[in-house]
Amino acid sequence: MKRKPKLRLYVQIFFFTLIGLIAVNHTLAEAGRGIPLLADASLHALCPFGGMVTLYNLGTLGTFVQKIHMSSVILMVLVFLLAILFGPVFCGWVCPLGSFQEWIGKLGKKLLGKHFSQVIPASVDKVLKYARYLVLIWVVYVTARSGYLMFAEIDPYNALFSFWSSEAAIPGLIILLITMAASLAVSRPWCRYACPYGALLGLSNKVRIFSIRRNDSTCISCHQCDKSCPMGIVVSNKGKVTDLHCISCLECTSEQACPVPDTVNLMNGIFMIQPDTKGEEKA
Ligand code: SF4
Ligand code: SF4
Repeated sequence: MKRKPKLRLYVQIFFFTLIGLIAVNHTLAEAGRGIPLLADASLHALCPFGGMVTLYNLGTLGTFVQKIHMSSVILMVLVFLLAILFGPVFCGWVCPLGSFQEWIGKLGKKLLGKHFSQVIPASVDKVLKYARYLVLIWVVYVTARSGYLMFAEIDPYNALFSFWSSEAAIPGLIILLITMAASLAVSRPWCRYACPYGALLGLSNKVRIFSIRRNDSTCISCHQCDKSCPMGIVVSNKGKVTDLHCISCLECTSEQACPVPDTVNLMNGIFMIQPDTKGEEKA
C-alpha cells in the first residue's frame, strides 16, 4: 500500500507552488498582464540570502546591494531565528530548489536502487562537503567588491524560477541542468556541495536550541535512520546530531525511519517535538 503524503511534503509543495506563481506573475506583470491579488515580486525580493549579503555590504561599504529588497532582510531575520531554535528549517522544509532536487532524487532511487547516493565514495564526499564554504566566502567577497549580487547569475534557484524569461542567465541554467542530472545519482547535490546559504544556515546546527537526539538505550542499531537522511548523515552513532549538513527535515525522527518509538526525536533535553506521523503507512 502507498504511504500517505507527509506533512513536510505538503509544506514543500506549498512553498514551491507559491514561489513559482509569484515568479510567473512577475513576468506577467512586466508585460502588463499581472494577476491581481498575487504578489508581483522579483525573485530577489524572496531571497533571504540576498538579505544577508546586502547587510554585509551595508556594514562594510554603507550601501545596499543592487536589486535586493527590504523583504529579503525580513525573510533573512525570520530564517535565522528559526535556525537558532530548530536548525536550517528553511533548507529542509521551504527551499524550493532543495525540494526539487529531492523529487528528482525519488526518480533516481527508482533507477539506481540501493546504489543511489552511493556513487561518490564516503571519503570524497566528506571533503567535497566543505566546498560550499568556499562558495560562501567567494560570494561574500565578490559581492562586497562589486556591490552587485553576482551569484544570481549562476544561482540554480534563480534559474529554476526564471528559465522562461530574459532574467535567466546562461551560467545559472547550465548549473541548474547539472544539478538536476546529479540529483538522479546523489541526494540534494547542490545543498551538499555548493549552496552558500545552506553553508551559512548549517552553522546553526552547532548552537540550535532544539536538536535531533538519539536514545542509545532503546536503539537497536538497524541503521534505518541513516538510510532516511537526505544529507547522508550517519545518525545511528550519535547521541545528538550537530552535523553542519543537517537540514532539520525530521525524516530520521519519523516512524518510517526509526522502528523504535521515541528513539530519535527533536528535543532540547527537556521538551520533545515529534511530527504527527500516526496513520502513515509504510510503502
Ligand atoms: S539528521 Fe535527521 S533531521 Fe538532519 S538532515 Fe538527516 S534526516 Fe534530516
Ligand atoms: S533507526 Fe532507530 S533503532 Fe535503528 S539505528 Fe536509527 S535510532 Fe537506532
